Amino acid sequence: MNQLYPWQQSVWPQIRNHVITKAQAFIFSGRKGIGQLEFSEYLAQSLLCEQPTQAQFACGSCRSCQWFEQGTHPNFYRLEPEALLVESDLDATQALSDSKQSSEDTNSKKKLSQQITIDQIRHLDQFLYLSGHQSGRKILLIHPADCMNVSAANAMLKRIEEPPPQVLFFLVTDRLQALIPTIVSRCMRITLPHPDRLSVKNWLHQEGIEENSIDLSWFGTSPQLVKRYLEAGYSAYYVELIEKISSPMQLDPITLAEKLHKQELSMIVSWLQKWCYDLVSFQILGRVYYHHRYEAAIKTIVATTEPKQLIDFWKRLAQFQQWSRHSLNARLFLEELLFAYIKTCSRISN
Ligand SMILES: [Zn+2]
Repeated sequence: MNQLYPWQQSVWPQIRNHVITKAQAFIFSGRKGIGQLEFSEYLAQSLLCEQPTQAQFACGSCRSCQWFEQGTHPNFYRLEPEALLVESDLDATQALSDSKQSSEDTNSKKKLSQQITIDQIRHLDQFLYLSGHQSGRKILLIHPADCMNVSAANAMLKRIEEPPPQVLFFLVTDRLQALIPTIVSRCMRITLPHPDRLSVKNWLHQEGIEENSIDLSWFGTSPQLVKRYLEAGYSAYYVELIEKISSPMQLDPITLAEKLHKQELSMIVSWLQKWCYDLVSFQILGRVYYHHRYEAAIKTIVATTEPKQLIDFWKRLAQFQQWSRHSLNARLFLEELLFAYIKTCSRISN
């Protein structure tokens, strides 16, 4: 059973048959939302499969494939931040779209670590160094590898430097630059391809998703983000945000933060980043890339905003993006973000 995305098919033979024999530790990276995790999991399943097909796809029916699909394979370990483990137990789509989640759930999630910790790495040693029920190859998949904090990353580095025989390390990330350089230099890097617009459209169509209502350019070409966006009913929040920030003088950060604070913060920051990209683009080149419908509003904002302030704010958004993963108080985070935006846009008129 071949579960690769269409845009991954062309790299499969080379990676599965050749690249994978060249090292024990690999980093699978690429743009956010293009399916790195699915690719590396499927590769792991194929490598553990007892009867792979001629094209080296997992057979889907052997004992190993059954264990793998049930999440009980003794020779496969998926290491993730605690918070992510809890989320994957929930119905992910439901969790994202249900803004009326019980406060109990929200509180218990906040206490769980969003990082991969050194304790988790130490806990792995039994898997890495002891032979279990099943002899043969073992695969450790770390996702997102950029969530290892510094001490965890250093502990992992030691294990990668002296890998137990038969163990493969798969580090999966869409933020390669956030990994410590010593880890990057010890691993073989595999950058996975991203699809073009047409492939995204075709894939969404196959998935039974109607994408006419949105502008794919918001997402670059990250099909999973588009899918998640559409399934989770984000669009109403997106429209609300853009409507409000297109009139910064009327914007009320406290009310808007109240409306948006249960949504994924990094997604909201990325919406604002694209909006500011358009402001900067209009200022420099006289054209917008993402928000054509709002060109008149963008023109008005740019006319009363100092170019340097705008570029400074745009740079600050990259910091907000990093903080968004660790913010404990979503409402305050959004208020600060929106107040900073208003301040940026009101330089001249004040
Ligand atoms: Zn199989």
